[in-house]
Amino acid sequence: MRVLWFCIPAYGHTNPTIEVVRELTSRGHEVRYYSFEEFRAMIEGTGAQFVACDSYLPPIDAHVERRLRKVSTTEMSVQSFRTVANLDPLVSADVASWCPDVVVTDSACFWGKLAAAKHGLPWVCSTTTFAFNEHSSKYMSHSVAELADIIFGLPRLNREIRRLRPLGYHVKSALDIVQNKPDDNTIVYTSRTFQPCSETFNEKHYRFVGPSVRDVAPKEKDGRSLVYASLGTVINDRPGFYRTLIDALRDADIDLLISCGKAFDPTQLGELPGNVRVEQYVDQMEVLSRASLFVTHCGMNSASEGMWMGVPELLFPLTGEQRAVARRVAEVGAGAVLEERVARDAAALREEIVGALEDERLREGAARMRDDLRSCAGPAGAADFIEQVARCHIEG
Ligand code: UDP
Repeated sequence: MRVLWFCIPAYGHTNPTIEVVRELTSRGHEVRYYSFEEFRAMIEGTGAQFVACDSYLPPIDAHVERRLRKVSTTEMSVQSFRTVANLDPLVSADVASWCPDVVVTDSACFWGKLAAAKHGLPWVCSTTTFAFNEHSSKYMSHSVAELADIIFGLPRLNREIRRLRPLGYHVKSALDIVQNKPDDNTIVYTSRTFQPCSETFNEKHYRFVGPSVRDVAPKEKDGRSLVYASLGTVINDRPGFYRTLIDALRDADIDLLISCGKAFDPTQLGELPGNVRVEQYVDQMEVLSRASLFVTHCGMNSASEGMWMGVPELLFPLTGEQRAVARRVAEVGAGAVLEERVARDAAALREEIVGALEDERLREGAARMRDDLRSCAGPAGAADFIEQVARCHIEG
């Protein structure tokens, strides 16, 4: 079987696919993965062929870059529509010559979803967030700025959509592309328990395969507790928050490890107390195997990895999607929300962290979710489903 795979340039969307791709290649299938140089080694390591899309991204100026950094939905959609047009000749030629049996595309990857539709190929949606339909999307609470960005951006998006028509792409709206529809064959990297409104997603087309993570055996926790903090790999430029965290645990009988991201140099945080370490990037699963508490921005992957390792979470979401994940982690009892007001006050933050470390109910909730996520079908279940979708199409 030949699988054409598409993903956007983001760790959170790429990481969960890696074990699924490895599973497919180990079963003897060919996978051709359209992605970006930053992810080449990771993808080639699975045995897949890598196709670089970097030079097909539209050129951006400083203004657009700022908007993208703030995760403007409009700006991301405009850039995605332009990427569809830029990639069209390459993808169309590849489909014609390589003849894939099935397309797997990230739920936010416009060029993958639209290529499958244009060429009439069977496809599977790879959803690294929650599956979002009209019910579960109510879990996302948008800030006023996020809503204004979406509403005032509509005319721009419509212009981009019209430009795609002559190339054979017929798009209703950006929302129509990203929403999970009832009949779309969809892999979701979480469990039915964790997915909000899971009863509104049918068994036939939706596979909740659980997080696709590289497992690390949990270490025995004795002695000092380790608090691990990360705001993920996208919006992590928050030196003020890291400084408050450092001050909160200064001289405490607790170790603190912060992964601050690559947006700034950790030396900017000044002299660190002996119990604190700051890195730009860490092996998160390995760190979680030793951690007692995870201060997280609630990216879907991070929140899932924390639960997978049974580590209670302090939830500090920064976007609508992250707020949805935070709300759900709190609902299933595996974490507690960290209020913005507390996150700005070192003394209050220290109290919150110590309280969370001592909270038996949080530990039980995290252990319950660990068992739940580990009972899912995993990468093998995802690979079975992709094979099934391709087979159904071949057999008509
Ligand atoms: N990650 C990591 N080391 C770090 C920071 C992040 O390995 O120092 C990984 C993390 O394990 C997760 C991904 O990067 O798989 C981040 O994805 P997530 O959805 O949590 O957040 P995003 O970065 O997309 O906001």
